[in-house]
Amino acid sequence: RTFFSPAHRRAAEQIKAWMQDCGMESWIDVVGNVHGRIKASRDGTQAVLLGSHYDTVLDGGAYDGALGIIVGLAAVKSMLLTEMEGVRFQSTFLGSRAVEGGVADPQAAVAALALDPASISEYIEVHIEQGPVLEARGLPLGVVAGIAGQTRLWVHVNGTQGHAGTVPMRGRRDALAAAAELIVAVEELCIAPESEENLVCTVGEVQVWPGASNVISGHTGFSVDIRSKTDQMRNLAVARLLQAVETTCKRRDVACKVNRKHDAAAVLSDPEGLESVPVLVSGAGHDAMAIAEAIPKMGMMFVRCRGGVSHSPLEHVEPEDVTASTAALAAYLWGRVAGPMLTGPEVQESAAAADTEASNVRDEL
Ligand SMILES: [Zn+2]
Repeated sequence: RTFFSPAHRRAAEQIKAWMQDCGMESWIDVVGNVHGRIKASRDGTQAVLLGSHYDTVLDGGAYDGALGIIVGLAAVKSMLLTEMEGVRFQSTFLGSRAVEGGVADPQAAVAALALDPASISEYIEVHIEQGPVLEARGLPLGVVAGIAGQTRLWVHVNGTQGHAGTVPMRGRRDALAAAAELIVAVEELCIAPESEENLVCTVGEVQVWPGASNVISGHTGFSVDIRSKTDQMRNLAVARLLQAVETTCKRRDVACKVNRKHDAAAVLSDPEGLESVPVLVSGAGHDAMAIAEAIPKMGMMFVRCRGGVSHSPLEHVEPEDVTASTAALAAYLWGRVAGPMLTGPEVQESAAAADTEASNVRDEL
C-alpha cells in the first residue's frame, strides 16, 4: 500500500468502515488521513489521540502500521462493550446519517469534528517493535522511553577515473578505495566505548561510477545513517565523521563533499509511570516524532515481533501478543477517560472484552 495507490485508497475506506463499526464519527481528509472520533459524555475533557500508519513499504509485512490501527480500534470497541457507570460515549454515526440526509451540511459537520492540537492531551501509538529486544527479554510488550534522533548524509568522493591495467598503483586517486576506508571509519567511530548502546551508524547504499571491473572508480558516493537517543551524541558522531572525511580525503588526494539530507531530533516520551514497566528506546523513526512537535505528550507501546524481523513478508506477531497489547491499551484508555488510573474489576472486565475483540481481529490481520 504505497501512498495514494489503489490499494492504499481501498485500505482507507476499510479503516473508515471499521471506525464506524466502533461507533466513531469517521472521515478521510484531503491528504488521505483517516480520522475517527468518539466523544466521552463528559464535556470539556481533552482528547487522547491514537495513531498509526496504513501505508507500507514495498515488500513489507502485515503488521507494520496495521497492528497499531487494529489494536487501537479493538481497544476502543472493547471499551464500548464494557461501558462503566458514569462513563459513556456519544456515537453518532455521522457518515451514515449524512447518507440518510440527517445532516444538513455534511462538509461543515466534518470540518467541525477536526481536532485542534490544543484540545489534545497526548498522542499514543502502538507499533511492532521491529527489533529483537522484547523477544530476548521474554516480554510481549514494552513502553518506549524515547525515539532516537537521526541524521542522514550522502558522502561524495571524487578521484580520477583510469584503466585498471595501465595506471600504476602509486599516484592513483581511487574514489572507491577512499570510500571503503571511510566506510570502515564510520563503523569504528560508532562502536567507540562511550557510545555503547546509544549510537548506531550504517552505510547501506554505495554508488560506484563507472562500476566496471577493469576501471578505477572516478566517483563513489555512499549514504550514512546515524541515530542516537541523545542529540548530543549524534551531533558528536557527525562532527567526528566530517573530521575523518577531511583527513582521509586529504591524505588520499581525493575531493570529498558531504551533503546533509535529513535531521530529526530525538523525542522523549512522557516519563510518567515508566518505572514500573519494561522500557525500550526506538531506533526506528515513527509518526510520533512529527506529532510530538504539536502535542505536549507522546507515548508509544512496542509489541514483540518474531526474530525482530520487520519490513519483510516474514514479519510476525503472535496473536496472544496482539491480545495483550489491546488489553494494555484499553486499560490505559479507561484510566484516561475515568480519571485516575483504574485497577481491579473494571480493568479486568475491559481486558476480558479486549481479549474477545482481539481474537475476532486475528483473522482480519
Ligand atoms: Zn511503521
